Amino acid sequence: MKYCKSIDFSYFLLASFFIFIISYQSYAQEVEEVNVYSARHYDTDMALYNEFTEKTGIKVNLIEGGSDALIERIVNEGEFSPADILITVDAGRIWRAQQKGIFQPISSETLNTRIPENLRDGDGFWYGLSKRARVIVQNKKSNFQIEIKDYEDLADPALKGQVCMRSSSNIYNLSLMSSLIEANGEQKAEAWANAVVNNFARSPQGNDTAQLRAVASGECGITVANTYYLGRLLGSKEEKDRVTADNLNVIFPNQNNRGSHVNISGAGITKYAPNFDNALKFLDYLTSDFAQKLFAEGNNEYPIVGQATGAIAKLGEFKEDKLNVRNLGAMQNQAVRLYDRAGWK
Ligand code: FE
Repeated sequence: MKYCKSIDFSYFLLASFFIFIISYQSYAQEVEEVNVYSARHYDTDMALYNEFTEKTGIKVNLIEGGSDALIERIVNEGEFSPADILITVDAGRIWRAQQKGIFQPISSETLNTRIPENLRDGDGFWYGLSKRARVIVQNKKSNFQIEIKDYEDLADPALKGQVCMRSSSNIYNLSLMSSLIEANGEQKAEAWANAVVNNFARSPQGNDTAQLRAVASGECGITVANTYYLGRLLGSKEEKDRVTADNLNVIFPNQNNRGSHVNISGAGITKYAPNFDNALKFLDYLTSDFAQKLFAEGNNEYPIVGQATGAIAKLGEFKEDKLNVRNLGAMQNQAVRLYDRAGWK
């Protein structure tokens, strides 16, 4: 009798275990989620994700990392990758990710109407979500013999020993070069790179912020930098950053011709996205007015839909180069070789 009871109890335990597993599985299936791999690390992004979850019930699981590391991770995870979406910066880099086959083409009326054609991939592999311009920045006190208006002016011998630049392998400079090849042809672009190298104040080093500090301190007279680096200085809580910004003059290049070089932060849905429908809803959501404002403000960028807000708005409006950002990636290898020939380290 005692023996029977213990068997009964074992059955009971076993049955409870299976009921638990089955109900957990159906619970897990009911939890709607989207897995976002993001190279962005801003507090405002969390506010965005929370609002999306409140609106849709879809939970956002965030994995943050460096752009190239995340791309490699998705490649290595292959068809077992939990990633649904990759968010990263610079069309040149997004294009590289696309070449590695990690995205799938999508079609969304919301995305196609909200995002201008020049700021997304024509086949729907990725979409721009915010913008940055690469601008010329000079020391307020610098007294050059020419007035600097265009990127092309950086090649003028009047700037001998004045130009500080980031390395040519940096994706921002590769994309800028692609835009110059598009605008002026390879020969002229190469002559430009040669002449800019001749104007260097020092060999390329440091990031965009380092260039801005070097110009503000007078170590160099002039540089180029992405607008959000200026936004960071302008909006900084540190007084020394605001002093740095105070010493700088920002020039939006090429306002009387093609406009300033513009690049994007963007995203695409991964090839094996396990939560495809949720990923699509999430991307659509990122183009909403509320999301656009927060997404852009998070990194002092320009929204794709709506007006600039925050520190960056102080820089004023400008004319953008409407070159399709997809071309920035497609010409990248040409840009690398050109910089090498020019001796731009
Ligand atoms: Fe940056």
